[in-house]
Amino acid sequence: MLYGLACSNGYAVGKAEVIRGIPDISPQTGKVTPEKELSRYIAAVKLFEERANQVAEQVTQTDGGDEKNIITWHIFILKDPYMDSEIKRLIASGFSLEKAVISACETYSKVLLMSPSEIIRQRAADIIDVRNTMLEIISSSSNPAPLPDESVILIADTLTPSMTVGADKRHVCALAAANGGMTSHAAILARAMDIPAVLSVEGITDIISSGDTVIIDGTNGIIIPNPDEDTIKEYREKAEEYRRRQLALAEYADKPTVLKSGERVVLYGNIVDPEEANEVKAVGCDGVGLFRTEFLYMDRAFPPGENEQLAIYKKAAIITGDKPMTVRTLDVGADKIPACLETRGRLDPHSDVRGIRYSLKNIELFKVQLRALMRAAAYGNVRILLPMIDTPDEIRQVRALMKEIGRELKGRRIKYKENIPLGAMAETPAACITADLIAKEADFVSIGTNDLTHFIMAANREEKEVRHLCATSQIAVLRAIKHISDTVSAAGKPVGICGESAADLKLLPKLIELGVRTFSISPASVLDVRRALSEI
Ligand code: PEP
Ligand code: MG
Repeated sequence: MLYGLACSNGYAVGKAEVIRGIPDISPQTGKVTPEKELSRYIAAVKLFEERANQVAEQVTQTDGGDEKNIITWHIFILKDPYMDSEIKRLIASGFSLEKAVISACETYSKVLLMSPSEIIRQRAADIIDVRNTMLEIISSSSNPAPLPDESVILIADTLTPSMTVGADKRHVCALAAANGGMTSHAAILARAMDIPAVLSVEGITDIISSGDTVIIDGTNGIIIPNPDEDTIKEYREKAEEYRRRQLALAEYADKPTVLKSGERVVLYGNIVDPEEANEVKAVGCDGVGLFRTEFLYMDRAFPPGENEQLAIYKKAAIITGDKPMTVRTLDVGADKIPACLETRGRLDPHSDVRGIRYSLKNIELFKVQLRALMRAAAYGNVRILLPMIDTPDEIRQVRALMKEIGRELKGRRIKYKENIPLGAMAETPAACITADLIAKEADFVSIGTNDLTHFIMAANREEKEVRHLCATSQIAVLRAIKHISDTVSAAGKPVGICGESAADLKLLPKLIELGVRTFSISPASVLDVRRALSEI
């Protein structure tokens, strides 16, 4: 049995299709001259762009914003001035185009792999993808191998985004790879496509060969190579049960969120882009409880401007209607470091200039986001949530900034809303201990149990050795949650949880017992959680 990260739920039994290394390069015939290689390069880039745009067009017509962004990002990588000049430099020094592409991509990916940010390191997979597509185009072996009729489990050292996007659901029933994490593009795409996936499985391509029968348990992060008949039967039943459960849950979309006693519970949805507000609406949530805006800054050369952000927030606010649409301001830090922002690599990115600290240090960048939010608030029920609040003064500073922006917008006769509810994330020990003071300054409080657990237990969630300590079920964390919840409620302000723990069905009864009655979770978990609440 092999273990990895459970990146996308579900079960699958199938034959492995193992992808190793890079595509074959047809040997180039004739003499290599820089002029000839340069013209081949220009033609290949043109073809790459045409093809990528075609694929982007196709995915837009089917289901995907994420996929389109990734493909657009690939064009951006290839045309990046650094990549472009490196390939041209190598060609000028006598390299064949194939060698120049391989070498430039290797250098580029090494630079990304040195980044302290997990997210940027994972973008190295995109470079492999760009390299492989370019090599395919150059060698004209551009027709992809026909997909088998039977469903397969795609296995690779690194699952590149295009491998994942190409994993047509009719033929690929699961994904597994030696590298990658929860936030890698392959994981994001697998979840969006509803295919089980287990990533970060050491040595998987050495252990499993194409044609082997394999079980993938994406719910628990388990892979079973060459299982016996009984195990196959057991997992086929699990897969069927999982499918039945998903179908049965549909009836909870129209039900109110109540405990067994009939007591009402507030259930909000967490989103990372405005389109997801539709999913939140479809599963009958009470609104959006957490719009993580840092993802709007990822995979791009420049941060989004005021009008671009206005359009995004306005869209989410209109979809959400009268219900609250809570937007968290940029939460840079830990593993979320957008390449377009200037952040310094440090020893401990978790307790560094992150969250609200970053925004208050980069006031002009912050003002762009606040201005867009205050303008978008004129179109719906927008609330603003501040990440990593440590002191009440940080909230006061933001209020003063919003007043200043309000005066400026009024002076320019630009439509905006005043008195937008301003909330604080309670996710540090400081915010917990001073919850009474934070509650005086904030209009509402959201407990971020992911970071709160990490900081209360002084245990990094990415560190395998201390995973047992980094658990929200630890008594110290539960006491912290209760303290924040009781204190903020006593001050007459709304309080809820927006960390992953709110979707942990084992922990949910405990959180209810502690008195928490507001949760914000991913829309994919809403029906499961609503059903579980109805039995508590
Ligand atoms: C949290 O820390 O619980 C939280 C919701 O914020 P994030 O997971 O985005 O850090
Ligand atoms: Mg957090």
